[in-house]
Amino acid sequence: MGRSAEVTRNLQAPRPEGRGNFKLRHYPALRLVDKVVAECRKLDPNLPAKLAIPLANRTLTPIELVKANALLEEVRSRLTALAGGDTDLLFAYRRKVFKELMYDERSKPAVRVRLKKLKRVKQAGLCAICVGPLPEKDSVLDRLHAVEGYTEENTRLICRDCDLRTQTERGFA
Ligand SMILES: [Zn+2]
Repeated sequence: MGRSAEVTRNLQAPRPEGRGNFKLRHYPALRLVDKVVAECRKLDPNLPAKLAIPLANRTLTPIELVKANALLEEVRSRLTALAGGDTDLLFAYRRKVFKELMYDERSKPAVRVRLKKLKRVKQAGLCAICVGPLPEKDSVLDRLHAVEGYTEENTRLICRDCDLRTQTERGFA
């Protein structure tokens, strides 16, 4: 695939609404990307003005952080009370709550597995970023905006290397 075809392909990728609390310092490569987009739009004004850009997640303010930690302490003491000194029971309760909260944030594994298969077919087995072939087993379902969850519009399948780079650009790694 040629460079311009690749740019066009990226321009056609689904875009989240707005950039939210997007911070440019998390995406040093975007200054260059924005220039490339501007140049492409001179050639074809019908191209969208913005690329599919992963958004930075909402973070807690110091006051919200204090509230979150208080809630966490409350949950911990409720779990301890519920277990009544039984260490194995405490483990089981904690594990159950942990798992369900994780599903709230990441969806159940079956949902992600189904979406991964669908994305692999739709992307013709290629990474959505570098357009290299995705390994049979090892690929990452990436959310463009984490809060919008694992939906078809909000995800793309990428290779491990691109995931690592994306996480670093987002300031997670
Ligand atoms: Zn890749």
